[in-house]
Formats: sequence, structure tokens, C-alpha cells
Amino acid sequence: MALSITNALTIDVEDYFQVSAFAPYIARSEWNTRECRVERNVNVILEMLAKHNTQATFFTLGWIAERYPQLIRQIVAQGHELASHGYGHERVSDMTEEAFFADINLAKIILEDLAGTEVRGYRAPSFSIGTRNPWAFDYLARAGYSYSSSIYPIKHDHYGMPDSPRFAYEVRPGLIEIPITTLRALGRNFPSSGGGYFRLLPYAVSRWMLGRINSGERESGIFYFHPWEIDPDQPRIDGISKKTRFRHYINIDRMEVRLNQLLRDFRWGRMDHVFLNKLSKNAAVA
Ligand SMILES: [Zn+2]
Repeated sequence: MALSITNALTIDVEDYFQVSAFAPYIARSEWNTRECRVERNVNVILEMLAKHNTQATFFTLGWIAERYPQLIRQIVAQGHELASHGYGHERVSDMTEEAFFADINLAKIILEDLAGTEVRGYRAPSFSIGTRNPWAFDYLARAGYSYSSSIYPIKHDHYGMPDSPRFAYEVRPGLIEIPITTLRALGRNFPSSGGGYFRLLPYAVSRWMLGRINSGERESGIFYFHPWEIDPDQPRIDGISKKTRFRHYINIDRMEVRLNQLLRDFRWGRMDHVFLNKLSKNAAVA
């Protein structure tokens, strides 16, 4: 499929025990006692990207960056964009304004110190910016971020803002929101950006949806996944609900093969290269 539109490939760098759906089962204070898999998994991803000659954006937790500085330097050295996933993976909807501002500042400082370059992008844990906390954008602009990719314009039990714009827009002066990609059909938005849906649906469906966005709407899409999604050998978490187990582990053993196919079928790049240049060009015309 030789489409001329470039999509943004994004990886949310966190470990399997930090996933929001596991928060009721794994206390934050236990994180340090769990077997870490993130270094091994990110290395697999870096090799895969090198093989496809593809650059991506890594939205990384400050908590991870502090523990794996060498991994962070490697991400940057291989030409990828380092961006922020906050420090401690707390949902924005669970934080006070002060705690949020502290979290995004701390993450930016840690990441910039390791990268040696400016960190411009931010993605909220579990897409937790929505109608109830629009103040988050004021703090992101104040902390010096240039873009956010935090809103999922769908209905979901844990997140979503179904009525917000589907494509990039200036949400505050100097701050662009680049929403997670959806396909508009039958009067509603369908998730088309990866994550659990990509593992759940047949690959052909995901390919068709992104193809529609590229060739039908002539828009760039976003794809996101997590390092733990390519790791069938990660330790299993006991006592979790059936729904959480299903969402976390479904088709994990097929993910790497599918990702390779996705990288072959579409053109991919970093968030800043795909979206920021395009938008600044539009702004210059306006
Ligand atoms: Zn996350």
C-alpha cells in the first residue's frame, strides 16, 4: 500500500505493572519490587524500528527514565523523538491542579536532562484529559510543552471526549492538541489508533481503518502501543477482573508480527515531524 501520507508512530513507555487498569491490584509502593521488563521490550522495539528504517515518538514516564538513563539516551541516539508521559502515571482526572503541574514539570526536566534536547510533546496517562479537566491544557502550555496527544474522541468506560475535534487543533496559544485517531462512521467515532483494539480486531480491519483516514480523509493518523504489548512472557498479575485480564493479554503473542506488517503497509514518522511542521505551515499561511 504505497500511500503518500505519513502517520505518527507512538510508544507509551511504561512497564506492565504501571498500567492504569492494574492500579486497584498493584500499589504504587510495590512498583520497585516487581520484575522490570521495559528495558528488554524497548530494545526489541528499537531493533524493529531500525529494521524498517522508521522513526517514532516515545512518550516516556519520568519514573522509567530515572531508572534506565542509558535506554533513554539510546532512544534519542537512534533518531527518535523523546516526549513525556508524565512522571508517575497517575490519571490527570485523579490529580489536583498543583499535583499535575508538578508531575509534568518533573517529567520534562528528567527527560530533557537525559536527552540533551527540548521535550515538546506530552501524552496523558490513559488519555485522562477531558471535559472535566480542561485546566490541564493551561498547565501544559505554562510548563513549555508545544503539543499534547491526550484526547481520545470516543466513548469508553475509562476515558474519552466524543465531541472534541478529531484532528489536530490549537487548544491554547502555542499548544496543539493532536487527538488519538478515530474513524467517523454511522454518526459516531470508532477507535482506530492501536492499543488494545489493534490486538483485539483482525489486522485487516485496522489496516482498512487507517487506509480510510489516509486516502479518504487525506489526514495523518496516530498509532500507539506499549512495550508490554509485545511481551508474551511478562509475569501474570493475579486476582484481576476477567475484563481487565482480557483487555491486557488478548493476542499479545501476535502483536510483534502485526506491528511488522503495519510498519510495512504504511508510512511512519515522529509526532513532531508529522504534525508540528504541517501546522506551523498552516499558521504561516493564515
Ligand atoms: Zn500509559
